Amino acid sequence: MKLWFLTGSQGLYGEDTLRQVAEQSGRIAAALTEALPFEIVWQPVLTDATAIRRMCLDANSDDACIGLIAWMHTFSPAKMWIAGLDTLRKPLLHLHTQANVELPWSSIDMDFMNLNQAAHGDREFGHIQSRLGVPRKTVAGHVSDPAVTARIGAWARAAAGRAEVDSLTLARFGDNMRDVAVTEGDKVEAQFRFGVSVNTYGVNDLVEVVDAVADADVTELVKEYEECYLVAPELRAGGERHESLKYAGRIELGMRQFLEAGGFRAFTTNFEDLGGLRQLPGLAVQRLMADGYGFGGEGDWKTSVLLRTLKVMSAGLPGGTSFMEDYTYHLTPGEEVILGAHMLEVCPSVAAGIPSCEIHPLSIGGREDPVRLVFDAEPGPAIVVGLADMGDRFRLVANEIDVVPPLAPLPSLPVARAVWRPRPDLRTSAESWLTAGAPHHTVLSAAVGREELTDFADMLGVELLVIDADTTTRQFTRELRWNQAYHRLARGL
Ligand code: MN
Repeated sequence: MKLWFLTGSQGLYGEDTLRQVAEQSGRIAAALTEALPFEIVWQPVLTDATAIRRMCLDANSDDACIGLIAWMHTFSPAKMWIAGLDTLRKPLLHLHTQANVELPWSSIDMDFMNLNQAAHGDREFGHIQSRLGVPRKTVAGHVSDPAVTARIGAWARAAAGRAEVDSLTLARFGDNMRDVAVTEGDKVEAQFRFGVSVNTYGVNDLVEVVDAVADADVTELVKEYEECYLVAPELRAGGERHESLKYAGRIELGMRQFLEAGGFRAFTTNFEDLGGLRQLPGLAVQRLMADGYGFGGEGDWKTSVLLRTLKVMSAGLPGGTSFMEDYTYHLTPGEEVILGAHMLEVCPSVAAGIPSCEIHPLSIGGREDPVRLVFDAEPGPAIVVGLADMGDRFRLVANEIDVVPPLAPLPSLPVARAVWRPRPDLRTSAESWLTAGAPHHTVLSAAVGREELTDFADMLGVELLVIDADTTTRQFTRELRWNQAYHRLARGL
């Protein structure tokens, strides 16, 4: 994944100045390469409309290019940019910077003034982008400032997520849980809006692959489980329920094989539709999520898409990202927290410490007892994000949260869980979330946050509502109303 660095100028300046423009913009691009987790491809300085249009067309057609950063080092008359910007379909960041940090007060002359004109050159560029309605992120400041590169980095991560969702294929094992509303959605609109292709497979297609896995491979994988986790004695080799662990390993190998063969990077399951599977996949799903796969329970493909996307956006960052569900509350005044979990499927990337691998009955689904990893989530700041289909559009809702240790040990709870304090407080958070019609399935991420999500939503033209420390229900309700009007109007623009 690469980002292209475009420098705008014009022919009037002459070769000497353009050579300096090229040299200095090359240094800016090199500084960005140092600061960002993506390769920056410096492109030759653009001085006319034909070259600009060609550059934008080439960017569109290069799958490795996930976005463009544009900077007008000198004045680049912006009518030259109309044709190019009009064709551009990749995310754009307008970097408003300049080569120098300090003004050379004692030596500044007209040559310097002639060369360093971003202060007005970028204003010309901002004008034409606004005039044409070009979606972009604008970042102002010198590239030596970590706050500047952090904002560019968030956008670059969002661009990586955008590229991922554009080429994502998702396999659903069975359909949605019957009668559930919020896990439904318009898959045609999702493919148009996000690019993702969502298709359902019969669960028994998966079962065939699971049943055909070689015993020797299962034995190897089970050894890995015993090394990686605190495996309950009854599940260990020689233990009375070791067969259950082996079957869990068989499910993992079968699922992996099915997903790899089809090029799927996200999937869903549904406990109501398990076909010939003897256990609800718990451990398998948890480990696949830890390896970067998107997942949603009960056929929830939207949350699965979101999880895979956030996993890609957060690559290399500390902090995990998991499928999550608001489960139950602790409402003691002053101590209010949410206990989040799922039947089984929480990703061990968010675990504090080494998970234990256990087997317990599951009161739902009517199958053999499933094996699962059990742990508490690592405390710290995080975000939960949900994606809902509102009928006429998709809506993302995010809540900034603080994951906390459980207020007391949970010795009888046989599933992985996260306990968090939502910002600004549980009441405001829950009232806002419900008013927005946001889902109970979410993605919890301790790796990416509001800025990456905002940039991602902007790139896709999808609504994003954020509940944070400053949210009040009054202001949030008004924002919902305004958004309703804006997104209906924006569709017609
Ligand atoms: Mn659920």
